Formats: sequence, structure tokens, C-alpha cells
Amino acid sequence: MRRPLVAANWKMHGTIDGVQRYLETLVGRLQGGGPQVVVCPPYTLLPAAVMVATGSAVEIGAQNCHWEEKGAFTGEIAAPMLAELGVKWAVVGHSERRQYFAETDATAAARARAAQRAGLGVIFCLGETLDQREGGETLAVLERQSAVLAGLEPARLAVAYEPVWAIGTGRNATPEQAQEAHAFLRQRIASLLGTDAATGLRILYGGSVKPDNAAAILAQPDVDGALVGGASLDAEAFSAIIHAAPGSSRVD
Ligand code: PEP
Repeated sequence: MRRPLVAANWKMHGTIDGVQRYLETLVGRLQGGGPQVVVCPPYTLLPAAVMVATGSAVEIGAQNCHWEEKGAFTGEIAAPMLAELGVKWAVVGHSERRQYFAETDATAAARARAAQRAGLGVIFCLGETLDQREGGETLAVLERQSAVLAGLEPARLAVAYEPVWAIGTGRNATPEQAQEAHAFLRQRIASLLGTDAATGLRILYGGSVKPDNAAAILAQPDVDGALVGGASLDAEAFSAIIHAAPGSSRVD
């Protein structure tokens, strides 16, 4: 019922030439009717990425955006600027933004609202640290971090559960750990945004998703796709992850 969404987060990697070749390869691997596919390269690659992806089954996203539409915010990029480029999505609240750039629940929420005002879809990231998991606080952390979803428009929202201890570490959550967190988040979204919104909203798993572990995670009933970092840098590996999603068929 929920179309899977598989998104690539390139982080601070890539070149103009590389993103063009990558997208040509990826587009050639996709068939209609499979998962929705979003690629989020760094800002400098967005114009080239949009140019190659326009008219294809791949949509382009940014990895962040500012919460104001314009102003004295040196070095920042506003959501309407991304929309003007043809960007369709923004990743917001990624744990690396929270860890290294002082992102908070409140600033992440403000960015997400700004992205939606500009017409962008939002992939809103949340997840617990290793200490929080080992301290038995996972669900309490998810409850706190998800509170801000109440101010967002569910039709243009996907939530990415990304346990911090699984990001870039090669240590993914088990399918059962992912399902437990996702089911909790769906209940939480039902209480914040209503049952219809919770039923329709995609909850993605992120954290060391690879071609060999994707199918088991994506088969969980409340896992509606993936946000993929390291493994998304290779078009073949990323397309293998896309094809591991339920309902996908492979083109070789
Ligand atoms: C991410 O950056 O969102 C991510 C999940 O990274 P990785 O797949 O490398 O763990």
C-alpha cells in the first residue's frame, strides 16, 4: 500500500562528472512501478544532477536547507533556492548535522517546515545513540525527537529512523530492531498527525544498509524504504538495494 522510497545520501562526496555518470547508470537500471528513488548529492552537484535526472524515475534532493527564505546567513542555502533549481526533496535533521553542526529538534523542525513551504518533500531523520540504546532509552528518545513532526504536512513527509550507532559503522540494526522502532514511530505519528497520515507515511530505515542486508530489513512490515549513505555512492550497489525492496523488479 505504501510505495517504498529509497534515498541516497552522498554526504560530502562526488564530482560533477561523477554524478552525471552515476545517474545515467542508475536510470538505466530502473523500471517503472518500483520504489520511488531520490538521490541527494552535495549542493554543488545539484544543477548537474537535476539536468540528468529530469524526465527520469529519479528525483533529486538536498542534504539540508535553511529555515529562513532569505537573509544574512552566510554560507547557507534556502529551500526556495533548491526548489528553483528543480530539487524535490530535502534531508533534514541528519545525525551528522545534529552531532557536528548543533542541529536540534527545534532547528530541524524549522528547516523541515521551510522545505515544505517551498514545496519540497522532507526526509526527517531521527534515531538514538549507542549510549541511549544501551541505557534502554531508545523509545523515549524517538518519542522526544518525533514530537516536532506534529507541525509538518504528512503528504510531503517521510521519516528516516537512523540509529546513530549504525550510521557509517557497518553495524546495521537487525530487522527486528528496525521493525520495533518503526512500529513505535508509526503509532507515535498516528497520535501526532492522525491514523490516516500514519498509515500512508513512509518510514525509512538508515544505517549501514548494503546490498546483502537490504532485503531482510526492507521486508519488515513497517519499513517502507531506506536512506543509504556509503553504499549509495556506487550506482550498482545502490540499484541492488533499490531492487531488494518489495515490489521491485530488476533490469540488468
Ligand atoms: C546516512 O548517511 O544516512 C547513512 C545511513 O549512512 P550509511 O548508510 O553509510 O550508514
